[in-house]
Amino acid sequence: MISLSRKYVGVGGAPEISQVSPWLFIEMVSSSCVGCGRCCSNGCDVEFPALGKILNLAESIQGFDYDLWFETPCLDLEFPGGGFVRASVQNGTCVFQRDGKCVLHSFSGCKPLVCRLFPITFDLGILKVAADIPCRGLEVSVYARAQQDLLSIFGRDLIQELDRFCVSVLRSVKKC
Ligand code: SF4
Ligand code: SF4
Repeated sequence: MISLSRKYVGVGGAPEISQVSPWLFIEMVSSSCVGCGRCCSNGCDVEFPALGKILNLAESIQGFDYDLWFETPCLDLEFPGGGFVRASVQNGTCVFQRDGKCVLHSFSGCKPLVCRLFPITFDLGILKVAADIPCRGLEVSVYARAQQDLLSIFGRDLIQELDRFCVSVLRSVKKC
């Protein structure tokens, strides 16, 4: 793992990141998300602030059975608001997917943090590559693909630091 010069906190007050995996700069994926929805088959963790916004918009999210949307809440300080609920799986995919698209995309602040960051994830203060990435490819690094979302969540200082790490990690790989 690479230790950062300081801790970086997500815009919603969490997660707090102090290390990054070098694999962010090495593992490759397709250049952009085409919204195929294949990464949604297990549902996702929805942080409490996004949950509140989704529930406020429940009337606007047509065609879903409100009672089936979420599983039991979990407390977890790595998530904004101190916890999350799991979005349920129905018909083999996340309850918020319709015709292969996420219905939460169109509602500001509703898309869960873990979905915005994908194919990056976080665990115990470490930013790392998500476990299952259906859109692996040879076009860009995981870091390059997630850079704009990292910027909006953690700010420019983190990006500047990660850019420096990216150069040094790639130099070391080329020497091997
Ligand atoms: S599998 Fe990849 S391309 Fe498809 S929706 Fe998920 S992130 Fe986007
Ligand atoms: S909330 Fe949207 S992006 Fe996240 S898993 Fe569900 S359908 Fe996919």
